[in-house]
Amino acid sequence: MTTLCLTTLSRLQHDIDERVQAIREAHPDWLCGKGCAGCCRRLAEIPQLTAAEWRLLREGLAALSPERLQAISRDLGALVGQPWRPIVCPLLDQTTNACPVYAQRPVACRTYGFYVQRNRGLYCHEIEARVTDGNLADVVWGNHDSIDHRLAGLGGTRPLNEWFERWQLNSSFPGMAGKPVPPDQGLRATRPISAERPLCPIPSAISSS
Ligand code: SF4
Repeated sequence: MTTLCLTTLSRLQHDIDERVQAIREAHPDWLCGKGCAGCCRRLAEIPQLTAAEWRLLREGLAALSPERLQAISRDLGALVGQPWRPIVCPLLDQTTNACPVYAQRPVACRTYGFYVQRNRGLYCHEIEARVTDGNLADVVWGNHDSIDHRLAGLGGTRPLNEWFERWQLNSSFPGMAGKPVPPDQGLRATRPISAERPLCPIPSAISSS
């Protein structure tokens, strides 16, 4: 099951990368790039990940320093129960505006700005403004409904804080031993929205996949 899910995730990431690359090649001045982090600073909730996404993300997290992991743990804990939105992703390096686990980032982070969802639009205000101005009329956008359908095939999701807590309890983090085991709330059956998604004009050209 694990190998199958990783293969499915790898195929999904490959397809997303192809779509993103095609758009970037046609528009070398595309807004998304290192140092922007606009989407990472406007999350509607704590990121939700399937088990396959979490396993990949954990590889990236394992390469970070113990101090950085403790800071992430602290930030995740502070976000739980925090009522106001949007939130800043607890993984974001706020001094460089870079994602420290970029190669292992979740699917929602890969599609943001390049995919469109019915009734929810493009998500990124900056790109939406360009669409409204007619500057991106030639873009064939990815179809996020199709991505969600394929992600559902990977199983349910958990919020990042739950994955992280469970990982800590099975690792040798300094000062983390003996922390009480959180109740297992189980995987969610559906994938909630993981980023701010205001209503906006839907571009006309959307791919079928
Ligand atoms: S995981 Fe990385 S790319 Fe995704 S929201 Fe967080 S900092 Fe941004």
